[in-house]
Amino acid sequence: MVYKDDSGPLHFIGTGSAFNTALGNNSAYIKRSSTLILFDCGGTVFHRLQQLTLLENIKSIYVIITHTHPDHIGSLGDLIFYTYYMLNSKTTVIYPDPSYIRSLLNYMGVTDDFYEIRNIGGDTSILTADITLKLQPVSQKHADTLECTGYIGSFDNCSLFYSGDSQEISEQILVRFKSGEIQYLYQDTCGKDFPQNPHMYIGKLAQCIVPELRQRVYCMHQDKSFDPQAARNLGFKVAQPESF
Ligand SMILES: [Zn+2]
Ligand SMILES: [Zn+2]
Repeated sequence: MVYKDDSGPLHFIGTGSAFNTALGNNSAYIKRSSTLILFDCGGTVFHRLQQLTLLENIKSIYVIITHTHPDHIGSLGDLIFYTYYMLNSKTTVIYPDPSYIRSLLNYMGVTDDFYEIRNIGGDTSILTADITLKLQPVSQKHADTLECTGYIGSFDNCSLFYSGDSQEISEQILVRFKSGEIQYLYQDTCGKDFPQNPHMYIGKLAQCIVPELRQRVYCMHQDKSFDPQAARNLGFKVAQPESF
């Protein structure tokens, strides 16, 4: 399938890194009829969901969490409360360690009554009348202070990998991408290069992916140093936030 925009099978609420507020915190979504599935819910995301009117007529909301940095869960509590009070529904949060998310939300007064939480094991599916999304978690190398999880996802006969924040692409993902088993790679990519960089420098990404395969790679979580045109010149795609 050829996608007419630059973001492939996913849409984006924001494509920026934590400090690149002009692009909004990085968050992808899939919307099908009354189901909305989000990857992460950073500080700017709830506001943009309202601006994009993405919550209208939604009955089921799933939030797949990659890790707990503020640019990835900063407005999760707002979304949970909104879903509960305004949509008369409960957000389902998906994360490999439910008790960890539960205690974080508890400190904000977002207690168990307001949402559902699902553990994600080897293989998990989000199954509604509107969509079936199969998910497989893959541990990522990001920051020393917390765990980060990327996800292999498949829906609508396409398969993708969503890195979350990650300074590298693991060998198992690269092999599956090169073989075509994973069709699309959504990778945290930055324009700055420095030692112990928690994100993946575009030059390092270019070393991992041969030019013929770069049209299946979407750069996301872009920092202010990231040059979209330079990335396109290398053959990569650049994820675009929806406009409002
Ligand atoms: Zn992070
Ligand atoms: Zn981040």
